[in-house]
Amino acid sequence: MKKINFGLMISLCLAIASCNNEQSKKETKEEMKTGITKSEWGTTDGKQVYLFTLTNKNAAQVKISNYGGTITSWTMPDKKGNTSNVVLGFDSLSGYLAKPPYFGATVGRYGNRIANGKFKIDNNEYTLATNNGKNALHGGLKGFDKVVWDADTLVDSVASLTLNYTSKDGEEGYPGNLKVSVKFSLSDDDEVTIEYNAETDKATPVNLTNHSYFNLTGDVKNTILDHTLMIDADHYTPVDSTLIPTGEIEPVKGTAFDFTKPEKIGARIDQVKGGYDHNFVLNKKDNSLQLVASLSDSISGRKMEVYTTEPGIQFYTGNFLNGSIKASDGKPINQHAALCLETQHFPDSPNEPSFPSTILKPGEKYHSITKYKISVQ
Ligand code: BGC
Repeated sequence: MKKINFGLMISLCLAIASCNNEQSKKETKEEMKTGITKSEWGTTDGKQVYLFTLTNKNAAQVKISNYGGTITSWTMPDKKGNTSNVVLGFDSLSGYLAKPPYFGATVGRYGNRIANGKFKIDNNEYTLATNNGKNALHGGLKGFDKVVWDADTLVDSVASLTLNYTSKDGEEGYPGNLKVSVKFSLSDDDEVTIEYNAETDKATPVNLTNHSYFNLTGDVKNTILDHTLMIDADHYTPVDSTLIPTGEIEPVKGTAFDFTKPEKIGARIDQVKGGYDHNFVLNKKDNSLQLVASLSDSISGRKMEVYTTEPGIQFYTGNFLNGSIKASDGKPINQHAALCLETQHFPDSPNEPSFPSTILKPGEKYHSITKYKISVQ
């Protein structure tokens, strides 16, 4: 029989135990870093507002509030490893209660414009609250961006936050009780995925989007005019002087709207009256999730890809920003300080029978996904 060296065994056991301990310390540390946290963020409408922080293993962080389903910040490292926030937003709820132009918000029930705030379904005419001259914009006076959503969080393979809201029949003039849920998740590949689901009990137009304003430099003192953009769209929808589509679908070829190959945003913006604020008709042919746009910035080395199931994208160059709103660091948010790439159905679709339909009927399920992926080149 072999002699057992108890001394050696004890040392080995101690070594294994201490190694396991180190391992579990490391895991606890990582668990603390990744996942989702929740903090109270004030109250409005008599309801508690929260700020949720989603963190992935690369230490990318996305903060989302259940006020307006709003992405308030997305911090990512740049090519030098310095971390900064690439979306417009505020550190406190008061910034949002002052009604900024939809910074980071979930927009609905109908993102973008409906002409004269009127439309018909089955010969019933509906009149919406108008809030943009004579038109209805982004859901009306108190759209989904200005309500407090109910929240559920989950840490599965990725951290996710699901927000639920029931928009009542007649709210802002829209027909039907609409149950909406929006799920935000942050993957370890630095992708923010936003998944929308909705059901109604009366036919109603639905067009949900996220209104994040991006500046990949992470500093609003730089405009986005030096960012380079590709949009996979051979056509766009021209608009009238109130930004309502004329109903035509025009080719981008040979115009300042041609971003089929990566172009500097500022290169031709002077040829577009007021700046870009247009819906692009994406080349994708079905409602699968596909890459439709990509944005890059040489200062930070950051690149963002946009994937969506939607047929259109509103490219808006922050034309109406005028310095009157200050960023959290006190810097004025000037014209072109950030841009939006709002995935969507086309504006004013309820009044344009040739556009893809936005009418959701009882028994049908609205489902839409958009993914923003940021990387460093
Ligand atoms: C619209 C702009 C509007 C902005 C903020 C964009 O989606 O296209 O015209 O100014 O939202 O409301």
